[in-house]
Amino acid sequence: MSIPFIKSFDFEYGRADRLSPTIRRVICNNPGPFTFTGTGTYLLGQNSIAVIDPGPANDDHLAALLAAAGNGKITHIVVTHTHKDHCGGVAALKEATGASVYGSRAHPENDGMNAPALDEGADLTYRPDEVLADGDVLDTDEWHLETLATPGHISNHLCFALPAERVLFTGDHIMGWATTVVAAPDGNMTDYYNSLDLLLERNDEIYYPTHGAPVSDPQNFVRAVKEHREMRDAQVLTQLKAGHTRIMDMVAEMYKDVDKSLHIAAALNVQAHLERHVSAGRVTQEGESLLNAEYRLMESDHPSTSS
Ligand SMILES: [Zn+2]
Repeated sequence: MSIPFIKSFDFEYGRADRLSPTIRRVICNNPGPFTFTGTGTYLLGQNSIAVIDPGPANDDHLAALLAAAGNGKITHIVVTHTHKDHCGGVAALKEATGASVYGSRAHPENDGMNAPALDEGADLTYRPDEVLADGDVLDTDEWHLETLATPGHISNHLCFALPAERVLFTGDHIMGWATTVVAAPDGNMTDYYNSLDLLLERNDEIYYPTHGAPVSDPQNFVRAVKEHREMRDAQVLTQLKAGHTRIMDMVAEMYKDVDKSLHIAAALNVQAHLERHVSAGRVTQEGESLLNAEYRLMESDHPSTSS
């Protein structure tokens, strides 16, 4: 089963589109290889408004969010994780509205190598007023939002559920247009699998990712994403069996159809798959550095399997 990606949808930069009685969305004009058409910022409510992922620092987008709020008051700024395309605009929106900032904890410290390699980059200055943990609730008389901890893409990633509408705001955990980068060292493939399984236990009707179109058949979509990861796990083992020991040699083979500008992100992804094999005892690693470490299949009487 291939992942049923949704590559086209109707939107206009800066326009507030109503998606449900409670939810509106404004898309920021920051398209790119990691952001697709740009960051989708969601607004909940009319009077006491929550803004989920205010997007990057961008004056036009800030103005569009304030215009969308109209006579309502933005009281809550909610953040799924600390990549700049999600939370770079937090400080300016907080200054303009006085809203409190809720969401993921500050950017993880072990992530130094990852940040510059990814176009979206990390926001090292972000500090929430209140860190949310799994199960924490935010509510007003207009909306009720529940926190779901979903590490994997990054260790501080959160999704947010609006149970009244069986909606899940998935941030970068699930995106409708592409697979998520799970970039070592902070991104963790085993956590990512576990966070996919968490979604399979739920009965959400629709996902609203931060990038791209809504996902309207979420369970099948998540199952397809999981199969895709299992396929990558198996490809990595195939590369090792073929005698490749270094990540960039594997990337050159596995991603030969992918634009070279994305190969560093792909390398971090392959590293995350390798680390999963290492922690499962299937693969050995010599050397620490991403580009110089050598990986080998564990010697065993029984051939390794991929899952
Ligand atoms: Zn991200």
